Amino acid sequence: MSTFASLGLSEEIVSALTEQGYHTPTPIQQAAIPRALAGMDLLAAAQTGTGKTAAFMLPSLERLKRYANTSTSPAMHPVRMLVLTPTRELADQIDQNVQGYLKNLSLRQTVLFGGMNMEIQKQDLRQGCEIVIATVGRLLDHVQQKNIQLNKVEIVVLDEADRMLDMGFIDDIRKIMQMLPAQRQTLLFSATFAPAIQRLAQDFMHQPEEIQVAAQNTTSANVEQHIIALDNGRKRALLQRLILDLDIAQVIVFCNTKQSVDQVNRELNRRGISAQAIHGDKSQQTRLETLSQFKEGSLRVLVATDVAARGLDIAELPFVINYELPLNAEDYVHRIGRTGRAGAEGIAISLMDEQEQKIFNAIKELTGNDLTIERIEGFEPRWWGDTVSEDRTEKLPKVAGENTSTATSQRRTKSTLNKVNNRGNKSQDSKDITIDCQHIPGRTRRFSRHNHPQCALLQRNFGAQELKIRI
Ligand code: AMP
Repeated sequence: MSTFASLGLSEEIVSALTEQGYHTPTPIQQAAIPRALAGMDLLAAAQTGTGKTAAFMLPSLERLKRYANTSTSPAMHPVRMLVLTPTRELADQIDQNVQGYLKNLSLRQTVLFGGMNMEIQKQDLRQGCEIVIATVGRLLDHVQQKNIQLNKVEIVVLDEADRMLDMGFIDDIRKIMQMLPAQRQTLLFSATFAPAIQRLAQDFMHQPEEIQVAAQNTTSANVEQHIIALDNGRKRALLQRLILDLDIAQVIVFCNTKQSVDQVNRELNRRGISAQAIHGDKSQQTRLETLSQFKEGSLRVLVATDVAARGLDIAELPFVINYELPLNAEDYVHRIGRTGRAGAEGIAISLMDEQEQKIFNAIKELTGNDLTIERIEGFEPRWWGDTVSEDRTEKLPKVAGENTSTATSQRRTKSTLNKVNNRGNKSQDSKDITIDCQHIPGRTRRFSRHNHPQCALLQRNFGAQELKIRI
């Protein structure tokens, strides 16, 4: 079995990794680290949550190690590495990871993104730092103000490149790439190798090695998926029932628009469920504060637009709920990738109304998952039967109700949970290549009773004997 040391990383980095709880490299790390250490350009397709940040950061730190110094002179700390990301949240997260990785190295890092004080970022840059993690727009602001010099950059990373292109940053990326020295290493990470990505690679990379450890657009086999059909007008009520009756400790609820995020958030708070909203209209400071509250566990529900769908790594997130199915099937993969990370198990529940059936088919096609449409008694859609044939669906048991005592409900949950876990669902998935790719040794953890995904109430075999729970 390979170790970080056997991949060519030195003691300073390996011991910092041990402190972070990383003992064994993930498949993307095993593939990327030796090649990047050899100075190759990489075109890597890595599924979310596979350890891709370390896959590009660790070999880069190893290569930059020779520049480590404790001099206070800014001239001794020119920018040597640039990491470009699509979102502020992702930049912030990479920055936090890097802090852990370079604990034992005298290299400096900084992070630049919009919505934060430009002056403070400028001062950081003036003092000199070898590693800059940035969103495209804010980096260009600093370039324009001549706060940053890019002529000594040796390594550039385009992280979640497909997302950057989706967000319309292609011209800005090209502009930045042209500012960099021709003699450099380029590492491009993307969920897919769409034609636009291939063109970018052709124009700016030098004979890149392709690495693809997980099939494109696959969902993690660790995530149990449920698609629940219902009427649009019942979504709010069912969302609350799911959170309460499944005793969900933490969940991200995804909506398609800022308006529905705000509405759902208001409604949850009105019902005494602690929730906060994040979307593009919130200030950067608020977004970061909300996220850190959620990551610390002091917030039960994060209601979000797709601003939170990519890149965010929230440890131990047991549930994701799609209040609305995303308009774009690829976003489904990213949204549900927020749970089931780093070898853990997760549950993704999507609420589907009549209008959303089209996107459901697109999701099925894109992911190749054999998803079944399910129903919950008491929330059956009125449109049922008109458009969905009975044999394609499975019914669900009732959700636990107010009359049910907690103890009884928990006993029932436990017994049905075992059944769900032993059912064909998982074993079918076990052939899926993504199981190997997703498993991060040493990070598999036991869920505490409190945050164990308790999706047993969504057990199939509607009306099973033990589940005589009334709404
Ligand atoms: P990423 O795909 O970079 O967002 O990483 C997903 C999560 O896995 C993050 O929490 C990382 O800290 C963690 N991680 C990455 N590589 C390893 C590893 N080799 N061992 C344990 N955890 C890891």
